[in-house]
Amino acid sequence: MTVNLLDLDLEGLAVFCQRLGEKRFRAVQLFRWIHQKGASQFEDMSDLAKSLREKLKGEACVTSMPVVSQHISADGTIKWLFDVGGGNAVETVFIPEEDRGTLCVSSQVGCAVGCRFCSTGHQGFSRNLTSGEIIAQLWFAEHFLRKHLQCDQRVISNVVMMGMGEPLQNYNALIPALKVMLDDHGYGLSRRRVTVSTSGIVPMMDRLARDAPVALAVSLHAPNDTLRDQLVPLNLKYPLAQLVAACHRYLAYAPRDFITFEYCMLDGVNDSDACAIQLAQRVKAHPGAWCKFNLIPFNPFPSSGLLCSKPDRVQAFARILNEAGIITTIRKTRGDDIDAACGQLAGDVKDRTRAAERMARQRTFSIHPIPVPVGSTEKV
Ligand code: SAH
Ligand code: SF4
Repeated sequence: MTVNLLDLDLEGLAVFCQRLGEKRFRAVQLFRWIHQKGASQFEDMSDLAKSLREKLKGEACVTSMPVVSQHISADGTIKWLFDVGGGNAVETVFIPEEDRGTLCVSSQVGCAVGCRFCSTGHQGFSRNLTSGEIIAQLWFAEHFLRKHLQCDQRVISNVVMMGMGEPLQNYNALIPALKVMLDDHGYGLSRRRVTVSTSGIVPMMDRLARDAPVALAVSLHAPNDTLRDQLVPLNLKYPLAQLVAACHRYLAYAPRDFITFEYCMLDGVNDSDACAIQLAQRVKAHPGAWCKFNLIPFNPFPSSGLLCSKPDRVQAFARILNEAGIITTIRKTRGDDIDAACGQLAGDVKDRTRAAERMARQRTFSIHPIPVPVGSTEKV
């Protein structure tokens, strides 16, 4: 059977090379060709012996998923829809900013957690992505962008696992993919520039701390269990006290000295002053500046029956938290014109026609040049 080398971290590739009777340093060379140079054809890998290239052609491939569509927003945000078979698709979003380029990556087709305010959750769960399908999103985007921007340095400086799916419910595929992102022979991203976002799978947070302690974002959305049970059904299994305790344990391993809490602002649901005060009390029960809040304006979709909080409500909520000494930011919405914002991803997983229609609409937008993020190799 042909092995897709995107499925393997460096350790896995070394084992694969050994099986072919090759030394470990060949795996390093191969890995660098694939991830640092974006090569997919073995004949292009000029410093590998011809005999090895022949062997590889018979046994392996480097294959990403087909791109169904690519939308470029007026603000430079790019969204790709990848075909993952069976009529399913997942989305990946590139968000350029002055000092960084962030890729938002999907981990599953749909999601089993079923949060009330999330369109991915509303679609239900189809399947886990493989490690190769997770890393292919970065592999494709990075090398596409380098060509597109005519840049030979790294374009993507940050990865956030905030696309479709719950990454910690696809743990076995997530870990090798994170290893490729962090590997100096791969993408060489520092742990603080890779973020796993979770709705709070407590035992898996402990495992992540040991296996690949990257930056952690936790989707909180409510200051008490009664409300969180309704918004994030997983709370029934791992209630807030357990979740907060797990965040604390994670801090000892985290690449930064804080955890980010995400809080989706829902009009009349979780956005009152009382909610903000209760949230501050919960956080302050633990000493130190150990967390930050990121308030996300809710991206409405028709079947949710929910609305986004008014901008002045979001401001007031942020003010209460900030005045309590908790650093709180309000997330800017990006890529609005192409539905690339949080929770809107793959609203059309099973509906390619809509994707095609959108693409047609997209052609009428003026496409501005994408600001070139600083291609940096230094680690911070
Ligand atoms: N499953 C993970 C990661 C993917 S969701 C998690 O839940 O953390 C990424 C972020 O988008 C989460 O914080 C999630 O709560 C938020 N989100 C989901 N739907 C949203 C919506 N409709 N509007 C705004 N944010 C949303
Ligand atoms: Fe799944 Fe995250 Fe959406 Fe909840 S918010 S349904 S965990 S993708």
